[in-house]
Amino acid sequence: MDLTFKLWCPRCGFRGSAGEYHPWCPRCRGPLEGEDLPPPRPILGEGGTPLVEFHSGAYAKLEYLNPSGSFKDRGVGYSLWIARRLGYKCAVVDSSGNTGLSTAVYSAYLGLEARIYVPASAAPGKKSLIRAVGARLIETRTRDEARIMAEREADECFHIAHPTSALFLEGMKTAGTELAGHAEGADIFVPTSSGSLLIGINRGLREAGVGGYRLIAVQSKNAYSLKGRVPELASIGGDQASLLDALLLRNPARLEELARAVLETGGGVVAVGDEAAVAGFREAHAKGLLAEPSSAAALAAFLSLKEKLEARRAILVLTGSSLKYVGLIENIISRRKL
Ligand SMILES: [Zn+2]
Repeated sequence: MDLTFKLWCPRCGFRGSAGEYHPWCPRCRGPLEGEDLPPPRPILGEGGTPLVEFHSGAYAKLEYLNPSGSFKDRGVGYSLWIARRLGYKCAVVDSSGNTGLSTAVYSAYLGLEARIYVPASAAPGKKSLIRAVGARLIETRTRDEARIMAEREADECFHIAHPTSALFLEGMKTAGTELAGHAEGADIFVPTSSGSLLIGINRGLREAGVGGYRLIAVQSKNAYSLKGRVPELASIGGDQASLLDALLLRNPARLEELARAVLETGGGVVAVGDEAAVAGFREAHAKGLLAEPSSAAALAAFLSLKEKLEARRAILVLTGSSLKYVGLIENIISRRKL
């Protein structure tokens, strides 16, 4: 074992030993930072996703083309590559679906046993694929129950802990460095739940020395953690948000940094309900972009602000694939509950 990274807690000052993993601060439960982390490298082909122009001056970053169909592969691939090197035999995670599938896929590839806790309401396609790659799928009544049950196994298995882990965030930074040549002068629309993607993009861009972009968080009205913390640029699509099933975390651990990143770039938040998510979903598919409803929300947000953006370039991060919803596409379009 040649890993010498150290994890530390900006909140209480905890410092871990070299090469010792903690999913969250063992003293105060807060999110961790890392130093001397090895640079991320592709494990199963994650990252390097295309940026395509789908509308004049508007680009989509196709994160749904990652190996398990979501941006989570960046953070999960990096985390489990290190888990393997640290000698872990199993991985555990709680997830609304995408992180669970990503963990299942990378565990299968790297030879780790995987235990995936998801709410029973997770998309059936995600649950089927989690089982298909040989992971143990445990369904819970709520998203919170999934978190509590997965945390109990954190001593025994490597817990991905995407909202608090320093390793996961390190993997996410590659999404920012890949945008380095395109971000200046752009509005970047990011579907936001735990905030690891938006924060990762911001840190990646900062480290690449890029500025002059605005970060626009796109949130579900059911998990509107930035409400009252950053400017609300729009609130669209009614009050129901049952279709935004990848955006479920109401109180993310890195909420302060998330709000700061949005504020410091002069951005804001768009709160999205089902009607707008469906409109975005239809529009995305009409352009040939197979984005899941929680990702298509970014397109709905962009369309609602298009007139106000003063011809700035727009980059929409399309986070997850609608291929996981096959069999339910008609339900989504007709806005029946998933
Ligand atoms: Zn702490």
